[in-house]
Amino acid sequence: MNKDKYTGGCLCGRVRFEITGTIREIVYCHCSQCRKVQGSAFATNGNVDAGDFHLVKGEHELTAYESSPSQTKYFCRHCGSPILSKTESVKDKVRVRLGTIETDIAERPVAHIFVASKANWEEIESSLPQYDEFEPARNKSR
Ligand SMILES: [Zn+2]
Ligand SMILES: [Zn+2]
Repeated sequence: MNKDKYTGGCLCGRVRFEITGTIREIVYCHCSQCRKVQGSAFATNGNVDAGDFHLVKGEHELTAYESSPSQTKYFCRHCGSPILSKTESVKDKVRVRLGTIETDIAERPVAHIFVASKANWEEIESSLPQYDEFEPARNKSR
C-alpha cells in the first residue's frame, strides 16, 4: 500500500482532493471524447480505489455530465477542470484526470490507447505500447 498522499484540485481552487492509495492503469487516451473533454490531443487518466479518493472540499462545486449511459464525468462548474469520471459497472473505482494532481506521483503511464481515433495532427513519439482501443489488460478485467 502506498503511504504517500497525493493532493490536487481544479484550476480555480474550489475543488480539492486527496488520494491515499496507488494510481493504477495510467494511460494516455486519444479517443475523441477525451480530446474534447481536455481540449487537447489526449487525456491522461488513472484508476484509484474509490475508498482512496477523498474530496477535501468543493463537493457541491462539481457538476456531473453523463457522457454515455454508463459513464459520468465530473468537472468544476466554475473553472471547468475535469476531475474524475465514474463508470456504473465499476463502482469500487474512480478514474482521475492526472493533470489535476499537484504532487509528484510514483506511478507511471503504461500505454497509449484509442490510437486509432487520435487527431490526425498528432504524432505520438513514445516508447510505450500503442493500442487501437483499450489496452489488453483492461479488456480482460471487463
Ligand atoms: Zn474550479
Ligand atoms: Zn478516452
